Amino acid sequence: IERSPGEPEFHQALTELLPTLVPALAAHPEYRRLGILERLVEPERMITFRVPWVDDAGRVQVNRGFRVQYNSAIGPYKGGIRFHPTVNASIIKFLGFEQIFKNALTGLAIGGGKGGADFDPKGKSEMEVMRFAQSFMTEFYRHMGPDVDVPAGDIGVGEREVGFLFGQYKRIRGGFEAGAFTGKGLGYGGSLVRKEATGYGCVYFVEEMLRTRNRSFAGSRVVISGSGNVALYAAEKATQLGATVVAMSDSDGYVVDPDGIDVALMKKIKEIRRGRVREYAEARPNARYVPRSAEIWTVPCDIALPSATQNELDLSGAEALIAGGVVAVGECANMPTTLEAIRRLKEADVLFAPGKAANAGGVAVSALEMAQNSMRLSWTFQEVEENLKHIMHSIFRTALATAGQYGVPGDLVAGANIAGFLRVAKAMAAQGVI
Ligand code: NDP
Repeated sequence: IERSPGEPEFHQALTELLPTLVPALAAHPEYRRLGILERLVEPERMITFRVPWVDDAGRVQVNRGFRVQYNSAIGPYKGGIRFHPTVNASIIKFLGFEQIFKNALTGLAIGGGKGGADFDPKGKSEMEVMRFAQSFMTEFYRHMGPDVDVPAGDIGVGEREVGFLFGQYKRIRGGFEAGAFTGKGLGYGGSLVRKEATGYGCVYFVEEMLRTRNRSFAGSRVVISGSGNVALYAAEKATQLGATVVAMSDSDGYVVDPDGIDVALMKKIKEIRRGRVREYAEARPNARYVPRSAEIWTVPCDIALPSATQNELDLSGAEALIAGGVVAVGECANMPTTLEAIRRLKEADVLFAPGKAANAGGVAVSALEMAQNSMRLSWTFQEVEENLKHIMHSIFRTALATAGQYGVPGDLVAGANIAGFLRVAKAMAAQGVI
């Protein structure tokens, strides 16, 4: 922490993870001798670069690009790219650090990385987004590749942006390396279910967690923050499982729809029109719009799925959820819950699914996309979805069993952290001090 001043999100990720590893280190004193933790917290490589581009008015704009290649003990670096004005070194490092453990939990051969830029796609024309993406890749291409570092989307980087990034990579490299990027469009090497994977996977994980208390999505009221890729598909799967999604949001505000969010309409507004959730309320008779996104947690619900961004659910949000009768919180986003909020939810005996485990479905299907690219074939929707479900259930069982084995029964945060850590630590130990 002293070595990384001014990086509060990164410190928060360390503060959440490191104390939970105490029982694992006690059981494996050799990892102390080998300096596993000391090496694990230090990225293998951190790349920062200038991204100059020309806007539609002919003005030169400059943004900052990042990639942290955090850990390659079990496979090539793998993690998304985020375009959002808040992106900085602290955010990229926290995301990359968490990605190491998440990727290990999937059981697949992928190391941890993350990247992005402080570029704000909001209000930019499609051509501006394309020029920016091309400039980003013109610098970044030299650091990636199918066996080196395989990026994907994240906040502000969806299928359109992945297309622009991949197209520029292909042009510079001079060959069709499909496995160099995931989240690609279906017409050029993408996988079915990748778009749905994080949201669906999160709901599968939470469904398993609910089962431990004889609860399920069926008949439950669900509040989902955000209305982007993850939120939309969490809403779709929760609805398919018989839940009523009563509220969703964007960074301006939230909508409450007592009839249950019409997911097809929300998808049309967000995915096709690139509109705001306010427009949803205008189109539905009983829905109302509240122009303050942070208050979404005051809407009474049984299950809350924070699916927008880091630290969006704080102590007051947790208090509001508890007052509204919440039974379970599932982190579909990365680190959406503050440490104080997690503590409060635990005290109130609310089931809690940590993001590292619950939102691993996206990267898991990304790894399946890489496998399909290598084999030069495509699996059906059902095949990929079955695989995703199997992986999410297996992550849940691993986190639960590990928690029990290391003396913290039922603590999925500790169980997921320890299980991810042990897999990476074993591979690091085998490869010498590097
Ligand atoms: P999108 O860009 O598709 O959607 C993000 C959503 O969150 C939008 O509704 C956006 O609202 C809202 N949002 C973003 N930043 C803020 C903010 N600062 N305050 C309030 N609302 C905000 O991103 P994704 O759905 O892909 O990602 C959501 C979360 O899930 C992130 O934490 C991401 O890291 C995580 N994740 C994503 C994966 C994936 O496969 N895409 C995989 C694993 C985790 P607005 O439109 O107003 O900005």
